[in-house]
Amino acid sequence: MRRSDPLIVGGGPAGTAAAISLGVSGVRPILLERQHVTGDALCGGFLSWRTLETLGRLGIEGLDGHAIDRLRVFAGTATAEARLPHKALGVSRQQLDSLLLARAEAVGAGIERGVTVREWRNGMLETADGTRLSPETLFLASGKHDIRGLARPRPEAGTQSLGIRVRLSAHPALTRLVGGAIELHMFEQGYCGVELQEGGRGNLCLAVRKSRLTDYGGDPEALLAAWAAESPAFGDRLTFREKGCDAIGAVPYGWIARETLPGVFRLGDQAAVIPSLSGEGNGIALASGILAANGWLAGEPADQFQTRLARATTRPIGIASWLWHWGEHADTARLVAAGVRFAPWLAARFAEWTRIAH
Ligand SMILES: Cc1cc2nc3c(=O)[nH]c(=O)nc-3n(C[C@H](O)[C@H](O)[C@H](O)COP(=O)(O)OP(=O)(O)OC[C@H]3O[C@@H](n4cnc5c(N)ncnc54)[C@H](O)[C@@H]3O)c2cc1C
Repeated sequence: MRRSDPLIVGGGPAGTAAAISLGVSGVRPILLERQHVTGDALCGGFLSWRTLETLGRLGIEGLDGHAIDRLRVFAGTATAEARLPHKALGVSRQQLDSLLLARAEAVGAGIERGVTVREWRNGMLETADGTRLSPETLFLASGKHDIRGLARPRPEAGTQSLGIRVRLSAHPALTRLVGGAIELHMFEQGYCGVELQEGGRGNLCLAVRKSRLTDYGGDPEALLAAWAAESPAFGDRLTFREKGCDAIGAVPYGWIARETLPGVFRLGDQAAVIPSLSGEGNGIALASGILAANGWLAGEPADQFQTRLARATTRPIGIASWLWHWGEHADTARLVAAGVRFAPWLAARFAEWTRIAH
């Protein structure tokens, strides 16, 4: 029996990886993306060696990024550095998503921009302009944004985390400070990742417990100022700050979808949310898109795919959740920094263990 081609919602790494994998196999999926113009999604933009390999398999070439070969950790007054097991890259999401969307289109996927899906009810999707669609197969890849009727469970009050991003202007002094490192600055109930991207521009992305932000009146500026006062190294990086700040609320770190509705393949952040300090969210998103496409092509039902993906993400998410938990308390964060300093080989192992195998 001929099945109709899947409908993909979301044009981030997960949705585009699925669209590319289907496209090269001769399937013509339609991908709905709410943005008219590809923006720079809130993300650290750290692409691990494994993610770069996956991108190569998808035919993404010529990424223009900043080479990263080391991890640098700051916790209180402690600083430690370790070599990463392989080379990584700092790349803006605007560049990454633009290349992925262009590749999806080139292999035959239909990209419909400016279409926002609002709701899923009784097997039917409704878009913002009132159009109703009833796809036989839905690839749900709306990432950090939930769709009514298919929303992920909200984290319990008291455990909620937020993501915040500011950009740092390209400057030779910033390049000297950060160089080829992915930096993790650990604070009480939060951390901040700093890296350079194409053209030497910096990306400073943090995840923090909502309760911590509430201590600063819910004002990200007050939180950043307090962290800069607490850590001179962090303050040094913030001096290159550009105007503006993006934020995203209630990130369900650690959540994994273990079941799904018939015909609904949950991908990327809609399937599993790894703590962002691991720098593996994009890798999981790409892998999930490829696995879903291959599963669908082989006739795999959605619930079997979801179980398979849940299994593949359990180890990296478990280890990253443990690191995030240790990193967010001053005493244990210092132990993490000491571990990186005295056993850099172990840090490299952890960097491997938090990657998804697929
Ligand atoms: C603070 C922070 C830092 C991070 N840093 C890193 C990092 O350094 N490295 C890393 O690998 N990962 C990082 N991540 C994780 C990474 O950003 C995500 O895991 C990844 O973006 C998931 O990809 P996705 O395709 O599932 O979703 P997204 O990237 O969120 O893409 C979803 C797409 O769907 C579209 N969309 C949303 N809703 C709708 C709708 N209703 N209708 C139509 N379209 C819709 C959006 O416009 C978007 O294009 C970070 C996350 C956070 C919060």
